[in-house]
Amino acid sequence: MIEISGVSHDFDGRPVLRDISLNLVERRIAIIGANGSGKTTLARMLNGLVVPRRGEVLVDGVSARKNGSEVRRLVGYVFQNPEHQIVMPTVEEDLAFGLHNMNLPKAEITARVDAMLAAHGLAARRDSAAHLLSGGEQKLLTLLSVLIMEPRYIVFDEPMNSLDLATRRRFSGLMDGLAQTIITITHDFDLIAGYDRAILIHAGRVEADGAPGDVVRRYIALVDAGG
Ligand code: ADP
Repeated sequence: MIEISGVSHDFDGRPVLRDISLNLVERRIAIIGANGSGKTTLARMLNGLVVPRRGEVLVDGVSARKNGSEVRRLVGYVFQNPEHQIVMPTVEEDLAFGLHNMNLPKAEITARVDAMLAAHGLAARRDSAAHLLSGGEQKLLTLLSVLIMEPRYIVFDEPMNSLDLATRRRFSGLMDGLAQTIITITHDFDLIAGYDRAILIHAGRVEADGAPGDVVRRYIALVDAGG
């Protein structure tokens, strides 16, 4: 479980999140809301990329404030833009990067990389230059580089952005099949129709929280009212 308790945050004195408390226990959770409402800041707190000014985030009891590196092992983060996530020159090196940082034995790293490449039909791409992959392949690589670290939770930041239709289908199919708990920031309401829960963030507060259909309707009403 991820417990968010009394979290508030500001950037340079400008409030961005205001007293947010949520217990995240469902397997599929969406975070929706307008641009600038604070969704990404909240999501980044789940793996310690942002530490709140006030309040606490606990992941399976581990404090994101005190133990960021352990929390980052528990919670993977798939960035919106693969260029912000792909750090190594080749596909194989990029997949292995996080595992080296975890100080896993070499044989274990090789075994995990081989298995990941084979499972996703990428064995022939092992030595490919990561920056020369197509946009869809790069997106897949970013997900695999997170999965290979075997997190319990995965945060997706607008995963469908700038993907073509075929890649969206493939990627959302992959997301559906994940055993992990996933938390997805998105504007794609089709994607979250089957989710267990949606949370609407508005001006840094939780404006609605419940079944995706109800929360999306609340969001649309808010926009219709000019909010
Ligand atoms: P959303 O994901 O809902 O679009 P964000 O959490 O990205 O919202 O941003 C909320 C507000 O915080 C925005 O006004 C944004 O400009 C600001 N913000 C986000 N990150 C930073 C940062 N690192 N420094 C300063 N301001 C930031």
